[in-house]
Amino acid sequence: MKGKIQMVDLKSQYLRLKDEFDLRIQSVLSDARFIHGPSVKAFEEELASYLRVKHVISVGNGTDALQIAFMALGLNPGDEVIIPSFAYAALPEVLILLKLVPVFVDVRSNDFCIDTSQIEEKISPKTRAIAPVHLFGTVANMAMINQLAKKHNLFVVEDAAQSIGAQYCSDDSFGSAGCIGNIGTTSFFPSKNLGCYGDGGAIFTNDDGLAARIRKISNHGQSEKYYHDIIGVNSRLDTIQAEILRVKLPHLTEYNSARKQIALRYTSELSGIQEIELPRISSDSTHVFHQFTIRLIANDGTKSIEQLSPRDKFRNYLTSKDIPSMVYYPLPLHQQKAYFANIQLPVSEALCNEVVSLPICPELTPEYQKYIIDSIKEYFIKN
Ligand SMILES: *Cc1c(COP(=O)(O)O)cnc(C)c1O
Repeated sequence: MKGKIQMVDLKSQYLRLKDEFDLRIQSVLSDARFIHGPSVKAFEEELASYLRVKHVISVGNGTDALQIAFMALGLNPGDEVIIPSFAYAALPEVLILLKLVPVFVDVRSNDFCIDTSQIEEKISPKTRAIAPVHLFGTVANMAMINQLAKKHNLFVVEDAAQSIGAQYCSDDSFGSAGCIGNIGTTSFFPSKNLGCYGDGGAIFTNDDGLAARIRKISNHGQSEKYYHDIIGVNSRLDTIQAEILRVKLPHLTEYNSARKQIALRYTSELSGIQEIELPRISSDSTHVFHQFTIRLIANDGTKSIEQLSPRDKFRNYLTSKDIPSMVYYPLPLHQQKAYFANIQLPVSEALCNEVVSLPICPELTPEYQKYIIDSIKEYFIKN
């Protein structure tokens, strides 16, 4: 096989639109307005119109976006926020930094998102918000989350770092991922579905009051230059990054459908293999396949410490075939040293031993995908 399969192929993506990227970067250099340049505002407006949300506030990265979102809600130390345990670490990290308390809830093994049937039992008098993570490109059960939030008077903050462009529609909850609750956040980390060439992030809301507060907090709590009303932070998207994102945004739909095509092919080709569980596509949302994550069910009990799990054996095989794979995530959040909670969340714990993400970037060629599929089939026929 020619070349090398990659999980993410940023170089090919750059080369496809190289002239346009180079031109736009050059124009920022000549213009020399590197911070708060006009492109930042233009990008925010273009993204708002793409997502059909009233306000987009760009910030320095996806973790800042979450931090600023929670600062804007005006919560008190000790207030509780319900989050899934099988997810990225950014949420518990910012909550604890802000002296808020993450309350971990298990996820569902079919869509990897928070199990909404387990939320209500975790709601206490101190609960102020639910923060679903739309993992791997799907959207959590927002109809149920919004319903619970309404009933218990809670905020909903959506982490849409992995699901930008996914559409959700169920009951009276609908819209783009990140634009269905009170506040949504995303990340433009280079490997995300809409990635820039450095760090970047954004916050979405349809609430004018929250939007004004978010903008103020992300700019040192200033109402005007050198007049500071509230405690804020310094977090902004560079002008160069905004220009890069303006080149990519018109291609996002195409990138997301390329991912979907790859996912559909994996699904139809691998569906006969009993040892693996394929990701489920919810009927309430589109899926933008930030990851294509399968599960290799661990055969219980008999596993001794030195024995490799079925997942790890499978990954070793992929490596021997020069096929990259990743484990998102190897340890649930409630078992991390930094956020340890002495509870048991069996689905999250099991998933960490079972999940493998296969290459699914839009640049993955049909030939490469065929090689991956054939290799996987060969493995399961032999084993
Ligand atoms: C990438 C990611 C973040 C953090 O984004 P950064 O831009 O790296 O700070 C937060 N949440 C989820 C689910 C992510 O995937």
